[in-house]
This record gives sequence, C-alpha cells and structure tokens, in this order.
Amino acid sequence: MPKFKIETWGCQMNEYDSQKMVGLLKQNGFTQTESEEEAEVFILNTCSVREKAVHKIHSRVGVLKKRYGEGKIVGICGCVASQEGRALMEKIPYLKFVLGTRSTHLIAKAVNRAMNGLKFLDSNDHKIEMDAPVTFAERTGKTKAYISIIEGCDNFCTYCVVPFTRGREHSRPLSIILNEVRDAVENQGIHEIELLGQNVNSYDYEGKGFADVLEVVSNQPDVQRVRFLTSHPKDFNERLVRVIAAHDNICPTIHLPMQSGSDRILKKMGRQYTRSDYLDKIKMIRDILPECWISSDFIVGFPGEEESDFLDTMDVIQSVKYDNLFSFKYSPRPRTAALKLRDTLVSDSIASSRLSVLQHTQEQIQLNKHLAMINHVYPVLIESFSKKNPKRLTGRTEGNHVVHFEAGRAAQLIGSIVDVRIETVTMASLKARLL
Ligand code: SF4
Repeated sequence: MPKFKIETWGCQMNEYDSQKMVGLLKQNGFTQTESEEEAEVFILNTCSVREKAVHKIHSRVGVLKKRYGEGKIVGICGCVASQEGRALMEKIPYLKFVLGTRSTHLIAKAVNRAMNGLKFLDSNDHKIEMDAPVTFAERTGKTKAYISIIEGCDNFCTYCVVPFTRGREHSRPLSIILNEVRDAVENQGIHEIELLGQNVNSYDYEGKGFADVLEVVSNQPDVQRVRFLTSHPKDFNERLVRVIAAHDNICPTIHLPMQSGSDRILKKMGRQYTRSDYLDKIKMIRDILPECWISSDFIVGFPGEEESDFLDTMDVIQSVKYDNLFSFKYSPRPRTAALKLRDTLVSDSIASSRLSVLQHTQEQIQLNKHLAMINHVYPVLIESFSKKNPKRLTGRTEGNHVVHFEAGRAAQLIGSIVDVRIETVTMASLKARLL
C-alpha cells in the first residue's frame, strides 16, 4: 500500500482539512506514516496568513527536493495553493499536485494521477462538495471533533488574505452539521465538538443563525463540551451570550479578535467596529457570563500606527485583562487593500519592540490569572499522555488552559472529564492533582 505523510501549518481549519484528506486517502487504500523515509507521497497543507509561513513552505519543498530529488511525490494544498494556483505549479515544477482549500475532496484523485506520472491542479470553488457530510475525517486518538459550519469570509479586513484563499462565505446546512456531530459522538466516541468558521457569527442558512446552531448542537445527547472559533466582534450579540449561559456544556470561552485598540487603526483595518463598540461587548459578555474566559488577537505595526495608537492598544490589554492573547507584527499580504494605504510603514525594529512590550505585559496578566486558580477545582477533559512525561496526563479546562497531572487511575479515562485541583502554575500551563 502506498504511504503518505501529511504536514499541516496554520489554523484549526487546516487541521480539519488534513483530517479529511487523511480519511479519504485511507478509504482509497493509502497508509499514513510519520516517517519521512517511508513516505512515497508528501502532502503539505499550507497557511498564507503571514509571509513567514509562506517562506517556510517554500523552504520545506526545497529541502524535500534536495533530499529526495524525483524519488518522492510532493504536493501542496491549502491557502498557499489557493492563493498561487497555477503560478505555484509553474514556479515549482517539482510539485506534482496543487489543491486549493475548496478542492481537498480531490486528494485521492490528485495522488493517484501523480503516481501515474501526471500532474494535477485544482483550485476551483466546489460549493456543492463542501456541503457533503464529512463522516470520513480521520479522528483516531482525538478527543475533540472539528466541524466546519461556515467557510470563507466576506469581511475583507484590509490586512487579511483569507477572503482570497478561503473564498466567500458559505454556510453549510444545519442537517449536515448535525449528521457530523452524531457521527463523531456515536461512531467515534468523541464528546467535545469544536464548531469552526473564519467568522462563525456570520452563519446564515435557511433563516438559522449561529446562536441556533450552537443551541441545537449543545442539545444533542452525549455532547459533553461545545466550543467555537472564531467570532467577529461586529456580529457578536447578546442572544449568543445568553445561549452560552443557558447551556452547561457550551464552554464559556470566547475568542474575540480586537486587532488594535485605536479607532484610527481599526478604521484603516476595515474592522467595522470602534474601540468603544468592542469594549461594550466585553462588558455585556462579563455581565451575563461572569465566569468566562476571553482571548483575542492583536496586530502591531500596521501601516500608520503611531506610538499613541499602540498605547491605545496597551490600554485595552491592561483594562480587559485577557485570559490569552495571540499577537503578531503586521505582515503585508498579496491582493490585500492595506498594500495600497499611503501611510508611513512602521519599521521592523519599532514593530518588534512594540510586540515585545505587548507580549511581556500579557505574560504578567496571564501569570496572575493562573496564580488565582491555585487551590481551585476545575473539570478537565483528558486529551492524552503528556509528550514530555508519559506518566502524566494532559487535559484542558473549559477555559482552554492546558493542565498536566499524574496519571494514576485516570490513565484509562482519556476522553473523559475529571475534576482536578490546581497546585502550581506557569504562564503557559497548570499542574494539578486528580481528585
Ligand atoms: S474577518 Fe477579517 S481577519 Fe477574519 S478572516 Fe475575515 S477578513 Fe480575515
């Protein structure tokens, strides 16, 4: 049986696409391997949100070519494939196939053709295939099932390449989403569901919105935890928060990317909300859900960002006190509107120093929040043995904190929810005792 190795960069949506491709290839008689030597086929599932990520893919292809020459089949899928399409194939003739984000269902065809010496390229917008139920995703050993509810994005934030790589918004039918939830729970024994979309709040299918999807999924029997990612602040509304509050199995964990604390920069980014709109939503969430965990994304060094804009961002970070933050330097991306802004570019050294101030501040906030968890009891979904210490188990709280604890009797309980008491903490993780 031909063996393939899949390497995944980027977000949960890419991880989910990789799981689908693994499932399809296995159905078609291929075997997955983690060994580079054993693999006959390499599938690189790529991310293009930042320039650095794209460079990594190009360098990985270079390494494979140098190491194996024509001895292996190498293909690219995902966002870089959608973004560059035919040009990628022309630029790197070594590639045997290129599949865009909406063409991953063609993976077996692409690999089979490549094995017969034929190249394959497809980056079309296959909407009908996106609605087909995904009961073939490879989730072996997983305790969480990713389920895509909406793909693509219509927001066109001026820095973001996603609308060009993942296409326009397309909501999947609710009945198909429920099929996939039932399949994960009943056939694969998975009790945590993570609903995915570039902007889940934009879900709109036959009059149903995202709050309806969340409610229906959480009411399914044996669904112990429901999470969702990502929310756009402009669409985040009170009804959604009330649905979360009314269902114990919906994790009160909200990722609400703000990107900048400055109204001037938010406008240039095309984010469609102001600083005070955003802060009002944070207040509304905390009023209804006092026990919730909020995380965010911030970009520093956007064109035209001045010190005062950055201080506005720091002011939000200090006042909201996020449970987790993902922060980046602005990265110019092809086809995005920000490339045409006439503002002065922020130098790399200034952007780096702003990023380091922001991250240092967040580390302190996060550490203090973790310290406040010591001696408290939290339910944790056990995910696996710890990679560093096989005598320990690793799980996650509802707030997505990574928790390590001695295995003891819980070794048989991977996939279950247990209570633990937090004993020691770092900025990144928690150590606990099983109760
Ligand atoms: S909402 Fe903005 S940042 Fe998010 S995927 Fe869409 S365009 Fe990109």
